[in-house]
Amino acid sequence: MIRFLILFTLALSLQFCTYSQSTKKMNMDSTNKNNPVYSNTDSTTVNLTDAEWKKILPSDVYQVARQKGTERPWSSPLENVKDKGTYYCAVCGNALFISDTKFESGCGWPSFYQPVSKGSIIYEPDHSYGTKRTEVMCGRCKSHLGHVFDDGPPPTGLRYCINGVVLDFKKAQEAEKNYTGKKD
Ligand SMILES: [Zn+2]
Repeated sequence: MIRFLILFTLALSLQFCTYSQSTKKMNMDSTNKNNPVYSNTDSTTVNLTDAEWKKILPSDVYQVARQKGTERPWSSPLENVKDKGTYYCAVCGNALFISDTKFESGCGWPSFYQPVSKGSIIYEPDHSYGTKRTEVMCGRCKSHLGHVFDDGPPPTGLRYCINGVVLDFKKAQEAEKNYTGKKD
């Protein structure tokens, strides 16, 4: 535990030297406590009832992910994060986006031009509020993430506008541990 703390502090101070933005609060693992389906490596589809989701998710995550809510623009600390790493679904841990595809859209929500893989996202037409939009959902747990628009930058020309509250960001070194299985 102490070793972990030392490593963690070291990692933080290193990041601090490189990126001034990294001092902002991020939702580091705060979302996956008491969540039995959360996994960064298991890709099995997750099907829970609404009542079960309500029990295991923090209310702000539940509101966006399961009730198709939208967080206030400019409210997510992840919007300005430029660190290298992976953005996972905060509901189930599925990898959704990598930092290389994140860009500043100015729309007030974390924006990406491409998902991590084809199957990581599910698309559905959304005609709510009289608009013609495309909803994007997590490919593993079908949680609402946000919408995709066709006014993004090259190479895809797409803008995935995602609610930060349903994203779980892990910096490159932390994400690596998930694959190598190393834990302190
Ligand atoms: Zn998910």
